[in-house]
Amino acid sequence: MTATRIDGKAIAGELRAKIAVEAEKLINETKVVPGLAVIIVGEDPASQVYVASKGRAANECNFHSVQHTLAVDTSEEALLSLVDELNNDIAIHGILVQLPLPDHIDESKVLNLIRPDKDVDGFHPINVGLLTAGERDKAMVPCTPAGSLILTKRVLGDLSGKTAVVVGRSNIVGKPMAALLLAESCTVTIAHSRTKDLPAVVRGADIVVAAVGRPQMVKGDWIKEGACVIDVGINRIPAPERGEGKTRLVGDVDYDSAVERAGFITPVPGGVGPMTIALLMANTLTAARRTAGLDDLD
Ligand code: NDP
Repeated sequence: MTATRIDGKAIAGELRAKIAVEAEKLINETKVVPGLAVIIVGEDPASQVYVASKGRAANECNFHSVQHTLAVDTSEEALLSLVDELNNDIAIHGILVQLPLPDHIDESKVLNLIRPDKDVDGFHPINVGLLTAGERDKAMVPCTPAGSLILTKRVLGDLSGKTAVVVGRSNIVGKPMAALLLAESCTVTIAHSRTKDLPAVVRGADIVVAAVGRPQMVKGDWIKEGACVIDVGINRIPAPERGEGKTRLVGDVDYDSAVERAGFITPVPGGVGPMTIALLMANTLTAARRTAGLDDLD
């Protein structure tokens, strides 16, 4: 069997186009312009690339978008006071602090100060609690898991009763992914570095979500025939075949072997990555609609 490739790039493009139309409608009907503020501290090149693409996507979606670029030695106090200012800015509906932050800043202190209704990353404990309590309609849901779920449902439809294994238990991806799959009535297993016989655990799953941060770790012979494989990993590895010093991006799944066993699989790049940015836009639109007293869109 050769798996059908799930084209996250195309699906994310469709979603962004829909968001742009809905933002335009919101602006015309209520005068509320969805506003997204992104804060970046320091000059980490990967973070700068992510932040730039978030700003571009926000502009394409007809949002008001601002970027705050702070020096690497910015004090925790100064960062907290910027977050506080944005919390009180009525033109801003979504606040995103690009991670990682420099070591001298307490990440959780900063993230916990963001107003839950403006927390478009969905990392605030209030949002974590709402998601876990099954109150998704009131929560802000983390973008990567929310995007991964859309891809899964796009190819499988109703997920009720399916077995799902999430490999990885981070607060950003693994745990919220498991909560979302549980809310879809999947039977969910969360695997991690202490899991015994991981290949056997993965082999039992109709849905495999790999969020490990280890290049090509999940092998094709771990995959149940016909399973849906969502590869969240983004790893840069040497690619000498492309020339000296060249690199390429790979996921946490060994694509070439997994594609022979799975029914559906996301590529890296072009799978989950573009969905993460599209979901950030969706969350910002949701936050803006909620301030206008409107229901969430489907
Ligand atoms: P973390 O490093 O926070 O978590 C990794 C998880 O993998 C941990 O729970 C860890 O277990 C588990 N793990 C590590 N080694 C093994 C192993 N050998 N066997 C089983 N489990 C293992 O990573 P993130 O969740 O933040 O990110 C995961 C991946 O997703 C990364 O590649 C990252 O780049 C990517 N990513 C992609 C995004 C996108 O937009 N596509 C967005 C965010 C992340 P333990 O808890 O026991 O240590």
